[in-house]
Amino acid sequence: MARKKRRIIIILTITIITITIFAIFKFGVNGNPKITEEQISYTGFLQMIEDKKIDTLEMAENSSIISGFDQDKPELVYKSKIPSMDVLTEYIQNESLEGNEITFTVLEEKNNISFFDILLDLFPLIWLTLSIVFFVKMIKRAKKLFQTNSTSSSSSDTPASFGNIFGGGEKLFEKPTKSDVTFENVKGLDEEISEVSEIVDFIKNPEKYRALGAKVPKGVLLDGEPGTGKTLLAKAIAGEADISFIATSGSNFVEKYVGVGAARIRSLFDEARKNAPCIIFIDEIDAVGAKRDDCGGASEHNQTLEQLLTEMDGFTERTNIVVIAATNRLSSLDPALIRPGRFDRKITVHLPDRKGREEILKLHGANKPFDESVDFSKVAYNTAGFSGAALENLLNEAALVAARKSKNEISEEDINEAMMKIQVGLKNSNRAISEKEKKLVAVHEAGHAIVSLFLETQANLKEVCIIPRGSAGGYTLHNTVEDKNYISKKELSERLICLLGGKAAEAIVLGDISTGPSNDLKVATETARDMIIYYGMDDEIGPISFAGSARSDLEIFGEATLGNIGLKISELVKNAEKTAEELITKHRPLLDELVTKLLEQETVSGEEIQEMLKSYQK
Ligand code: ADP
Ligand code: ZN
Repeated sequence: MARKKRRIIIILTITIITITIFAIFKFGVNGNPKITEEQISYTGFLQMIEDKKIDTLEMAENSSIISGFDQDKPELVYKSKIPSMDVLTEYIQNESLEGNEITFTVLEEKNNISFFDILLDLFPLIWLTLSIVFFVKMIKRAKKLFQTNSTSSSSSDTPASFGNIFGGGEKLFEKPTKSDVTFENVKGLDEEISEVSEIVDFIKNPEKYRALGAKVPKGVLLDGEPGTGKTLLAKAIAGEADISFIATSGSNFVEKYVGVGAARIRSLFDEARKNAPCIIFIDEIDAVGAKRDDCGGASEHNQTLEQLLTEMDGFTERTNIVVIAATNRLSSLDPALIRPGRFDRKITVHLPDRKGREEILKLHGANKPFDESVDFSKVAYNTAGFSGAALENLLNEAALVAARKSKNEISEEDINEAMMKIQVGLKNSNRAISEKEKKLVAVHEAGHAIVSLFLETQANLKEVCIIPRGSAGGYTLHNTVEDKNYISKKELSERLICLLGGKAAEAIVLGDISTGPSNDLKVATETARDMIIYYGMDDEIGPISFAGSARSDLEIFGEATLGNIGLKISELVKNAEKTAEELITKHRPLLDELVTKLLEQETVSGEEIQEMLKSYQK
């Protein structure tokens, strides 16, 4: 729409200018036909007065140019530059005394400047600007033609684009639409949905929150692997709130020319304001939001990011726009983006677990015919590590396989064939996790969990899961107790034991250890070090804090003490490992039971584990 307006304005401008040029040539500058002007020297001008070829003088107030003509021949005007007004007036007075009748008018300045004069002055400037605009447009168009030829990408929907001249005809954001996606279309993300439903409520009932003085969120960051349904979730928020949805991608704002990205951000937010209340969805925010480089404030990237921040900071309590951004590289984002008032809500979108995958398969399989050999629960079991998009793709591929065999129903075999095909081309993130790997992760996580159960301060388990999250292969979550300022020595020691439970289980159950526990060991070592050098928790070293001490300052403690610290740290970690191994050996049946359950369900809740513990202790 903005684009159409722009077009009309350009066409109008061209029309006006053309008419003006025409008018100037036809009627002359003063709208007076057939005037001829002649520049002559000052002495020549005076001579003309003396010769009575000039009897009327006109001059603009603050000008040094005088016009003169004969009243009988007003179409021929002589112009000349005068040395000074005084000299001229004196001369005219003398001439008048000699009986030469001269009319001298000083014109008020503005009377002398006509609309056409201004236009005439501006004409070269306007012409230059227009030429540049058309030139740039032509280059862009040529470039685009070239691109579409080589990639032959096509899109059938009408793209909205920025009115910005540099935008050319590129598709920079989708036309705002009402989304018909609801939470019903998003499967396996129950936790995520419950987090975002608050945002839906904010959008639907802003008054309720304003009345309480609560700040309505401006930005939500969705962090998760590709294909986990971040876009889908954003659309569902718009759908549930029944407001417009504008989708774009961070990569649309990456340009070589300084200022272009920023201008595009401005157009995006202009469009959003016109469509408010609405949701702006920016996929791949890292393209714009990556850490600002140190090389200076004026780089294109920095300007674009700053414009985004400015736009968001400019939201008032009444701006009904929520910006949702997606990334799978959270750590690369500029910290300024995540500050309060900007993207201050972060929601991790997880890969689906077995139950989630089954639901997604059912959803996307609903419009396809399957024969009785297909059991979605089994397909879900074999696709650990698959994202929602990968599952959807799997079913499509299976349909293609079946079609190629000219069948009218999809069988388990077709799905398996499709799976083989897909796996070849997939990178780590969406690859199905192998049975062996799953077992390893299950043993490791079960190790953490079982050890925790027998440690007073660690027993409060929330969830154990063997689906990858970020760089971790699986995870064991404890319920966090909020508002806790102090941690006791007992708790830190038990935390250490818990951290080593994973490695201990691998060693005992599998008879070998993997590289998996490396992060556990790092955290454990840091914890042990802090206990000794910051918190004075070792009796022998004593209540001394080495916090912030430089190497040279430490020398006052003597080599013996310093050497001891290293020993003490490794002693703490080793003892923790020993305790972990003892606990696992003692409760091995419970561990095996949890491993089996993890392999079957992939996620086991804290309650389920407590129940297992109860029947085990009977
Ligand atoms: P992302 O934005 O995280 O890369 P998308 O939302 O674009 O992922 O997912 C692509 C498609 O995959 C969706 O349109 C949907 O069809 C399917 N999909 C992904 N995740 C889910 C899910 N949790 N539930 C249902 N479908 C999903
Ligand atoms: Zn671990």
